[in-house]
Amino acid sequence: MPVKGSCHCGAVQFQVETPPTELADCNCSFCSKRGNLVAYYPLAAFRLLTARDRVSTYQWGDYMGTHHHCGVCGCGTYSQFPDFSSGQADYDNPRVAINARLLEGFDLSPLPVNHLNGRDDW
Ligand SMILES: [Zn+2]
Repeated sequence: MPVKGSCHCGAVQFQVETPPTELADCNCSFCSKRGNLVAYYPLAAFRLLTARDRVSTYQWGDYMGTHHHCGVCGCGTYSQFPDFSSGQADYDNPRVAINARLLEGFDLSPLPVNHLNGRDDW
């Protein structure tokens, strides 16, 4: 069943095909300041429901990832990366990391949280 997410003001809304089953908390320099809990999806399972021009984008470091936030209220919304599961950047399989804290009517508390050591990797 699809689950919908929204930033605080509602200017950026998105949907993922299925509820998350696990979350990730990354300690890299960006994620530790942004403070979101992410859930990963293939790009095909993600749909932006509002206008793309409400989405602001931040990039840093190697510029492989695009980190999006609402240009109106500032909430971190989602990021897009190539798939790194093989250890190499696979640009043919883009992945989306949503800010699971934005999901509406969905309780994150029972989900396992993987603590990623992005501080050393990125
Ligand atoms: Zn907003």
